[in-house]
Amino acid sequence: MNDNIRKAADVIRRSQHMISLTGAGISTESGIPDFRSTGGLWEKYDPSIYASIETFHHNPEKVWQMIFDMLELTSGAVPNPGHRALARLEAMGLLKAIITQNIDNLHQEAGSERVIEYHGNASRLECLACGREYEVAGFPVQEKVPPRCGDCGKILKPSVVFFGEMIPHEALSRSQLLAEQADVVMVVGTSAVVYPAAGIPIVAKRNGAAIIEFNVSETDFTRSITDIFIQGKAGETLPVLLDQLAE
Ligand code: NAD
Repeated sequence: MNDNIRKAADVIRRSQHMISLTGAGISTESGIPDFRSTGGLWEKYDPSIYASIETFHHNPEKVWQMIFDMLELTSGAVPNPGHRALARLEAMGLLKAIITQNIDNLHQEAGSERVIEYHGNASRLECLACGREYEVAGFPVQEKVPPRCGDCGKILKPSVVFFGEMIPHEALSRSQLLAEQADVVMVVGTSAVVYPAAGIPIVAKRNGAAIIEFNVSETDFTRSITDIFIQGKAGETLPVLLDQLAE
C-alpha cells in the first residue's frame, strides 16, 4: 500500500487540476453505512420503491419512513480523518474540487469549500408545490412526523435526488467541465455503479487524466481505468497520503 501511496503522491505533486469523486465509502468510518452492504438501508427498504420520486408523489408518508431512518444515520455523524485529509488537500491548493455522491454534508463540515453535491443534501428540505426551502434542523424529525411546508401545508421532501429525478443542472454541468479539465481524479469510496456520477472519471481518463482509486475492495474501475489502486480504509490511507505530500 505504501508504495502505491508514494506513487500517488508523485503524480499529485505534478498535477495542475486534481479533482475527487467521493461516495458512501468515505463516510462509513463516520458511522454511516453504505446503503448497499449487509445491514444497509436498502436491505430494509427497496430503493426502487422507497427512493422513487413517483412513490413520494403518491405516498410521501411511506417514503418518510425511510427518510426518518436515513436522518437518524446522518444526523449524529461527524467528519472522519478521510474527509479532513481532502479538506487539507484543498487548503494546500492541490485539490480543485470534490464531486460527492454523498448527501451527508460531511465534506463541508470537514472544511472543504468547493463541494459539488451531485445527489443533493439531506440537511435541506424543499416543498415540491411552492419551491420554498427549509433546514431539516428546524423540524423535530425525531418525533417521526413528516414535516410540512409553512406556506402551503404540503409534506416536504429532502433535497436529495430520488430515482426518477434529474441530477441538479448546475452540478451536472460543473462536474462535466471539471472532468474535462482534470489531470488527476481521486476516486474515493465509491462502487462506481451509479451513473452519471460514475461517468466522471471515465470522461477524465479519456482526456488523459490519471485515476487514483481509494477503496477497501476492487471495483469495476480497478482493472479498467484505475492507474493507481490504494487499498484500505479511506480514513487511514488518505492521511498517509497527506503526510507524504507534506514532507
Ligand atoms: P456504494 O455503497 O455503492 O459503494 C461504497 C463503496 O465504498 C464500496 O465500493 C466499498 O467497497 C467502499 N468502501 C466502504 N467503506 C470504505 C472505506 N472505509 N474506505 C474506502 N472505501 C470504502 O456507494 P456509492 O458508490 O456512493 O453509491 C451509493 C449511492 O447512495 C450514492 O449515490 C449516494 O447518494 C447514496 N448514499 C449516500 C450516503 C452518504 O451520504 N453517506 C450513504 C449511503 C448511500
